[in-house]
Amino acid sequence: MAEILGVNVDCVTMAQAIEKVELLIKQKKPSLVATANAEMLMIASHDLQLKNILNLAAMVVPDGAGTVWAAHYLGYDMPERVAGCDLVTNLLKKNYRAYFFGAAEGVAKKAAEKFPNVVGVRNGFFSKDDEPKIISDINSANADILLVGLGVPKQEKWIFDNLDKINVPVCIGVGGTFDVLAGNVKRAPEWMQRAKLEWLFRALLQPSRAGRLIALPKFVFKVHNSKKSK
Ligand code: UDP
Repeated sequence: MAEILGVNVDCVTMAQAIEKVELLIKQKKPSLVATANAEMLMIASHDLQLKNILNLAAMVVPDGAGTVWAAHYLGYDMPERVAGCDLVTNLLKKNYRAYFFGAAEGVAKKAAEKFPNVVGVRNGFFSKDDEPKIISDINSANADILLVGLGVPKQEKWIFDNLDKINVPVCIGVGGTFDVLAGNVKRAPEWMQRAKLEWLFRALLQPSRAGRLIALPKFVFKVHNSKKSK
């Protein structure tokens, strides 16, 4: 376990993360899995509720070059990056029954067309009054995995608040993964992923996200200070 800005991130490889999810599915008890990139860790550093939720999660995987860098910088042995999008794709290929909840109308549905094992979809725009119906739909689909793409920290808070009502063994916060799976947002080419530049690609492709880039240098600075104060 690597403690980064107060959040315990699991030092797992992709293979170990998949194994853990499979174990959780067998155990059947509803659980939260989070994918922590630098942006999420930055939000958690000033959102105590999110930080507590992450520290109660069944697993927090190191999503993103920034998280792996921070773990190494703080002296932890973090084997590799476990990108949320890749984790989800790997699990879907294993034919677990999955429910897609999140993104704009039609997006999760389009993403689901690629996977015969998706047993239900629901867009991510709803009011409090819609929630009982959403939860009963999810429960009647009898899924192994619930993917929730409402953005950070909304998705983690939603899962945590409803964990006692949801009858699904593994609930994963997946951010914009449905947009990627639907083909609406492109992932960086492999060479850019290998060069740890996926964040730059996203900012160039979606200029509306460029403002979020400032979170990265802030993250580096904050991790550096947290090391000094230890
Ligand atoms: N979204 C949603 N409901 C909301 C707010 C956002 O379903 O109330 C979706 C949005 O359409 C997008 C995803 O949540 O598909 C957030 O994507 P983003 O890439 O911003 O995720 P993050 O960076 O937070 O992981």
